[in-house]
Amino acid sequence: MPFLLNVNENPYPPSDAVVADITASVAEAARGLNRYPDRDFLALRADLAAYLGRESGAHLTAEQIWAANGSNEVMLHLLQAFGGPGRTALSFAPTYSMYPEYARDTNTGWVVGRRSHDFTLDQSKALAAISRHRPSVVLLASPNNPTGTALPIQLVEAVAGRTASIGAVLVVDEAYAEFRRAGTPSATSLLPSYPNLAVARTTSKAFALAGARVGYLAASKQLVDALRIVRLPYHLSAVTQAVARAALRHSDELLGRVDQLRVERDETVDWLRSQGLKAVDSDANFVLFGTFTDRHAVWQALLDDGVLIRETGPDGWLRVSIGTGAEMAAFRASLEKVLKTDI
Ligand code: PMP
Repeated sequence: MPFLLNVNENPYPPSDAVVADITASVAEAARGLNRYPDRDFLALRADLAAYLGRESGAHLTAEQIWAANGSNEVMLHLLQAFGGPGRTALSFAPTYSMYPEYARDTNTGWVVGRRSHDFTLDQSKALAAISRHRPSVVLLASPNNPTGTALPIQLVEAVAGRTASIGAVLVVDEAYAEFRRAGTPSATSLLPSYPNLAVARTTSKAFALAGARVGYLAASKQLVDALRIVRLPYHLSAVTQAVARAALRHSDELLGRVDQLRVERDETVDWLRSQGLKAVDSDANFVLFGTFTDRHAVWQALLDDGVLIRETGPDGWLRVSIGTGAEMAAFRASLEKVLKTDI
């Protein structure tokens, strides 16, 4: 498939310099592969804490960081530790489709409230839902997938306070945080005040490292200690740790294309609107657009032109990941053609 715009990857592969450093680090790790890896991966956790300090000004120690094979596994650990039979997890739809799967896999009850029509979250409704359902875990994605909507930090703080008051954990999923608009603080800024808060991140998106499978979170030391109990022994391989540490040494370069992708994203939103379509303002590396009476037909027509996007989100909407300039030109050309037919 020539144009892969379906799973919110970064379209820019690592440079030769990054590949060389990763290769050398893996070769070094390979010499010790007869031994189990460092099960607490403290060196990687220290590197991730330093990275978050640079990226969002958070003052964190290695003990406040957790990592696993993708933020999917990080969040599964959270549900294993804090969910379970007789407990409930709560989120607000439309949101990331894996949340109910984590709940199902851990026998945690699943309750879902609604976002507003513009995909923002109404604070008083969110707080009321928490008080009514008394969940053990609340999951908020900001920026949200599939809508791209970022939540105001005041709302996240209000939810952190309400979850704390009922002894629950708040997970803020910031998989797309590096793409947020300037001036939007990360939920990591709330960590000093909320020991019940976990901020999940990933290297899969802005960091251009989806294939390495490295996700992580920042939280209080007590919360992280609870995750050490549920993980399988040695869950993060020595090779994964070596790759992640090498990549973090090049974070500036790996994140270098984020500004460009943000510009491409905003231009995509403007272009979609100029075609008479709706497009949701996005703080991520994708755009939700529509609406179509037969979205599957539109998705298929793009696919026939070699452009793979995602049929996801509320009925009638489609989601396109932001690719290179050339990939977005192919997307626009194909969609323009579709819009001239009567799908
Ligand atoms: N959270 C959100 C909101 C996502 O969209 C994704 C990936 N699509 C993830 C978490 C998981 O990413 P990963 O497991 O690659 O870190």
